[in-house]
Amino acid sequence: RAKAKSRGTISIYEPEMDQQIRDRRVLHQDLSLAIKNGELSLHYQPQAMARQTVASSEVIGFEALARWLHPVRGFVPPSDFIPLAEESGLIVEMGEWILREACREAASWPMPLQIAVNLSPAQFMHGDVVGVVHSILLETGLSPGRLELEITEGVLIEDFDRGLALLRRLKALGVRVSMDDFGSGYSSLSYLQAFPFDKIKIDRAFVINLGHNPQSAAIIRAVIGLGHGLEMSIVAEGVETQEQLGFLADEGCDSVQGYFLGKPLPIGQYAALVGRNSGNAIEPARKTG
Ligand code: C2E
Ligand code: MG
Ligand code: MG
Ligand code: MG
Repeated sequence: RAKAKSRGTISIYEPEMDQQIRDRRVLHQDLSLAIKNGELSLHYQPQAMARQTVASSEVIGFEALARWLHPVRGFVPPSDFIPLAEESGLIVEMGEWILREACREAASWPMPLQIAVNLSPAQFMHGDVVGVVHSILLETGLSPGRLELEITEGVLIEDFDRGLALLRRLKALGVRVSMDDFGSGYSSLSYLQAFPFDKIKIDRAFVINLGHNPQSAAIIRAVIGLGHGLEMSIVAEGVETQEQLGFLADEGCDSVQGYFLGKPLPIGQYAALVGRNSGNAIEPARKTG
């Protein structure tokens, strides 16, 4: 901790803090090489229709989730390196790589399967996101209707007018936009009314509490009703149990995502679902029913 030892003193030379800054700087340099060195990859997590059983919950697409395998540190989670990439502006290049990779992958899947890609705040607000999406769609041949872009509501707070203009231009390309982690941050009902989202992703926190906390059930029910009233589709994140799946299916939630249906894995592990010969791959992690 870089806490002042004596009253009124802010000790900026704490060795530990120094180390932290050095660590960060090094990690930062490493991150700028990560794409070049092929250390970045994508895992894919299935999104399925919300039905009573896993077997009947048909997979409709996947969310692409970035992974960084650092040569020394090993696996660095996206919650650590995405913010770092944001601060440094590296996110623009990295986000473009992620989007291209995900679209190229999805273009090879059987027709109805969709791909969802996360856009970070800086990527959304500061890069030429519309131009990038447009050119990647052309380049990969992915039909725009199969691409969904996930944006957290916090992104839009920064600049309401610009946010709205960008969402409209993205939608004009034919892609869909979803509000990620709904309910986790600055969620406001006025956002749902103001911004043309196609889908709401209910934050994992509400799903976790199902069965323990009657308020969570009430909130999920309300969000489903609200979203449907606004002609948005609803997906619940973080579904880990049969009870949660059953509840969401009963309540008319449109789709589900979570470990109970399938973990984020290299696409080879879902070969059967994406119509690919699995070769010598390991057993698919999810039964296709
Ligand atoms: P997110 O977009 O909300 O992604 C869902 C996160 O929940 C993923 O974490 C996923 O692995 C995790 N998850 C899914 N199902 C379950 C479950 O049943 N239980 C639990 N406990 N967790 C579950 P992950 O992959 O660590 O990503 C964390 C966040 O990092 C993402 O949250 C997203 O905000 C960001 N992120 C990941 N990949 C990218 C990317 O390519 N670009 C950008 N901009 N952000 C990314
Ligand atoms: Mg997401
Ligand atoms: Mg989310
Ligand atoms: Mg999340």
